Amino acid sequence: MAETTSLLTPASVAGAAYIVAALLFIMSLAGLSKHETAKAGVSYGIAGMTIALVATVYATFADAWGTPTVTTGLTLLVIAVIVGAAIGLWRARVVAMTGMPELIALLHSFVGLAAVLVGWNGALEETGMSGALLDIHHAEVFIGVFIGAVTFTGSIVAFLKLSARMKSAPLMLPGKNVLNLGALIAFVVLTVWYVITPELWLLVVVTALALALGWHLVASIGGGDMPVVISMLNSYSGWAAAAAGFLLNNDLLIVTGALVGSSGAYLSYIMCKAMNRSFISVIAGGFGIAAPTSSGEAEGEAREINIEDAAELLRDASSVIITPGYGMAVAQAQYPVAELTSRLRERGVRVRFGIHPVAGRLPGHMNVLLAEAKVPYDIVEEMDEINDDFPETTVVLVIGANDTVNPAAAEDPGSPIAGMPVLKVWEAKNVVVFKRSMASGYAGVANPLFTRDNAQMLFGDAKQRVEDLLRVL
Ligand code: NDP
Repeated sequence: MAETTSLLTPASVAGAAYIVAALLFIMSLAGLSKHETAKAGVSYGIAGMTIALVATVYATFADAWGTPTVTTGLTLLVIAVIVGAAIGLWRARVVAMTGMPELIALLHSFVGLAAVLVGWNGALEETGMSGALLDIHHAEVFIGVFIGAVTFTGSIVAFLKLSARMKSAPLMLPGKNVLNLGALIAFVVLTVWYVITPELWLLVVVTALALALGWHLVASIGGGDMPVVISMLNSYSGWAAAAAGFLLNNDLLIVTGALVGSSGAYLSYIMCKAMNRSFISVIAGGFGIAAPTSSGEAEGEAREINIEDAAELLRDASSVIITPGYGMAVAQAQYPVAELTSRLRERGVRVRFGIHPVAGRLPGHMNVLLAEAKVPYDIVEEMDEINDDFPETTVVLVIGANDTVNPAAAEDPGSPIAGMPVLKVWEAKNVVVFKRSMASGYAGVANPLFTRDNAQMLFGDAKQRVEDLLRVL
């Protein structure tokens, strides 16, 4: 009996809790992969994180309970948690759905910064290690600081680009690929050097190098490829956390970091495939991707349609496809769009949604909005499922989408978004485009759809215009 009790050390209790938390995180990822189970997925994630937090605090303080360092440590921890939680709660409550991507980018930068700080702490702290173990420790410090710093500045640039504080066009420094490659080679050389002679100035150099590389990598990537960058930074933040886990000797951080890192990498791969981009070229900072040359303004005359005529088109339609984009999120038009959908369905019109994989500003953006407005899942189809159905469709309603329905991607090899698969809305009999002006989308590319014979523009805020349409119908 006495032996059994002695096995229950704080570390072993925490270890058991970590296994439960890791399982909950895996269940969370599995849940998040389907609409129907997404809510449960979020709950598993919250439960896992709560267990992880409690177990970590317990394991950190249990052994040294009663000593003065514990009081100071606990006080600092409580202050940090209260301040962090208050800021987190406040931001999460006030952030608009359209501001989510930039908030996520900013949060990734914190993970990167944390990994840099943990790495530096690991370098300055006495480890008591020697021999091969100490060499491994030095390599961990160096790699952790490098990944963390790249993630930190890369995420800040992504935040600036997504929030339009920085132009989305790619930065085209002369010899940018050589710069990126040179930085990687320098990192490898410096790592070996640091393992052999762990001098602090090497760590200063690698930190500066990685900060510059992160900035340059993301600044070099243009508008249309940003979705891949976001998921790539998500992946980097996971690896940065895993590196911190090795340094802190925390198994759960390693497992969680690896989960985030590998799922982020897989998401980047899926997005590259969806956008017909080479994964390597995007993670190498836009290697081989040309800078956009378009003016951003559509050429030619666009035809305008009024509400009555748009309503008439819908009354006579037998099938309608709605392709939402970022503008639907800005206008918060998903509720009237859902109402319009059910109204048309009551009249016997076949209504479906066509969702482009990078519509909006974050993966799954449109699916979240439509689910929020209670649009039935079974009429929400992915681009590949619906793309051949446009020729048999009477009316397509393009609600605040632009780049994702741009025929130039399919037809103009010189376009900056050439080769990116798009929803072939122009093949339908009629296309009604809901937007406020002739302005281009995120990628800054002119859209010849607007001047096609079968396309008409319904100018104005998407929410107001759909509500007007509902009134007339
Ligand atoms: P776009 O960004 O191409 O276009 C959105 C359009 O919505 C704009 O042209 C704008 O035109 C219109 N709009 C804005 N506000 C309103 C409003 N209140 N009412 C009506 N219309 C409005 O959107 P898409 O969804 O088609 O494409 C997404 C783009 O974002 C792609 O280039 C993608 O690569 C990129 N991206 C995607 C990410 C992702 O993970 N999904 C992440 C980062 C970038 P106007 O101003 O005239 O109204």
